[in-house]
This record gives sequence, C-alpha cells and structure tokens, in this order.
Amino acid sequence: MSQSGSPSTPPNPQANAQPLPGVRRVIAVGAGKGGVGKSTVALIAAVGLARHGASVALLDADVYGPSLPKMTGTSDRRLDLDKQTGEVLPVEVAGFKLVSMGHLIDPNEAVVWRGPMAQKYVQEFLQRTRWGELDYLIVDLPPGTGDIPLTLAQSLPLTGSIVVCTPQDVALIDAVRALRMYEKLGVTTLGIVENMSYYICPHCNSRDEIFGHGGAERAAQELNIPFLGGIPLNIALRAHGDAGNAEACFTDVEPPVRDALDGFVARLAQRIDEQDSAGSAPPQLNISG
Ligand code: ADP
Repeated sequence: MSQSGSPSTPPNPQANAQPLPGVRRVIAVGAGKGGVGKSTVALIAAVGLARHGASVALLDADVYGPSLPKMTGTSDRRLDLDKQTGEVLPVEVAGFKLVSMGHLIDPNEAVVWRGPMAQKYVQEFLQRTRWGELDYLIVDLPPGTGDIPLTLAQSLPLTGSIVVCTPQDVALIDAVRALRMYEKLGVTTLGIVENMSYYICPHCNSRDEIFGHGGAERAAQELNIPFLGGIPLNIALRAHGDAGNAEACFTDVEPPVRDALDGFVARLAQRIDEQDSAGSAPPQLNISG
C-alpha cells in the first residue's frame, strides 16, 4: 500500500528519492518469502565486500523479525544517540556498520505494528543514522512485497536489488513475484542468488543436490536477469550464524563453501560496477573471484 493509502504502486516511486550524503550505492536484499536465507545472504554480502576493503553498512529493515543482531553476536548491544545532533550511531561489527530494530528492543519482544509505523521507523533509521562515507549501504528487507520496499524506493535512489530464493519451484514462484515488485518500483534487479543450492558434506566435501539444482539459474536466464551464483546448504554456515560469528562464514568453512561465497561477492561487485558505469561511475572496487 502506498503512503497515501492507495492500494496501487505510485508511478515511478524512485522519482523523488533523495540520496544520502556520503552513501555511494544502496543495495536492497529481498525475497518473495521468509526462511530462504535472505538475512544470511545480506550478511555474506556485507562481510564479503568489507573484507575487500570497502566501507559497508547493513540496515536490518526486517523490523518484524530482525535476525542480524543474533547472526553478528550483537543482540546485547544498543544503538547510541548523539545527544547533540540526535543522530543514531550504528553498531560496528565484522568490519561494517549495522543498524537493526533488534538493537532497540529486547530480542524476545514481538513487534506488533501497523505498516505505517514500520515504514516510519525504516525512514528514521535511513535518515537519522550517522552512516559516514559508505561504498555500500545494504538493506535487508522483510520477506514479501509489502510496504517497506516501497518506502525504501521512495526514500533513496537504489543502485539495485538482489533477489534470494531456494531451488524449489514454489520458492522460485515467490522470487518471480519479488522481481516483478522491483520492476514496479523502478529498481534494477542486479541478480538472483540461489541459497541452499546444494549440500556440501563437512566430512568428505561431497556435493548433493537435495532440492534439485539449477532452477534459479534457468529462471534467471528466462527472465533475462543475471545469476549471481549458488550458496550451498552447509552446517558451518548455519552454526556461525547461530553463534553470531559472521566473519567465520569466510574464514572457518570448507574450501568449496568459501569459494562459493567469494564467487557470489565477486559477481555482485561486478554487477554493481556495471550498473555504476551505466550512470556516473564512482571508483571501482577490484575484486577477482
Ligand atoms: P530469512 O532472512 O530468509 O528468513 P535467514 O537468513 O534468517 O532467512 O536463514 C534462516 C535460517 O537458515 C538461519 O538459521 C540460517 O542460519 C539458516 N541458513 C540460511 N542459509 C543457509 C545456508 N546456506 N546453509 C545453512 N544454513 C543456512
């Protein structure tokens, strides 16, 4: 629903979006439904780009179910305010800045809000945070195609979006819905990521395709959208997420898992550079995959 109360998307939501000073690129991470690993992918993108020396921030706009504080081991941290300017000061972790509703409320508290309230908080986080100079602001959106993606698209010019899905057909249908949403919002889809793409056994490094494989890549081809790669279903990735050890997803996993993550980050950086060169180009980040 639009902020004016109309049930339809307003024409070109990006038309009046105003850039944040110092923030070069804004990347939205979305999924058609929950539980596909959207927050995990947003976190991998943030950690991966920061590991290459970029200045990165991650906004957890999944206000109803913020999981990034837990995944980064920062659940007990709270956002500070600069008392003079009223600016929100992000939590610094794993080489990037993080702002989450989970840094304002108790982790077990339920957020029961109507859409406009959630939209207002996301806008406040975007506008009032002292982001500093950023190469990338990554925004982890709530699952689905609701109010918050629209709020984001109306607030900031977006470099593009990443759509996360799993290999099953049903999940792909949801991903296509997310792609259509970005089209309506006037936001370029940078690419599709297939999470839980295949299973890598931590003992023997063998590979199994539990949910079938290649569905997202085929869908990307049919829809003429870049495929950013597959991320394996892997016990270490889950365990590092649960333990709040985000950097370990790159440093303490089996080599094929690390290669898959590095490949995804390299393709993402390349797509963003291509998107930049379509407009005015900031300096390129040199990542070889
Ligand atoms: P979403 O944001 O789509 O709801 P999450 O990123 O919160 O999903 O992931 C849901 C659960 O699945 C988390 O426990 C996470 O650690 C786990 N998970 C996500 N991706 C993977 C993966 N590739 N391998 C293993 N576990 C994963």
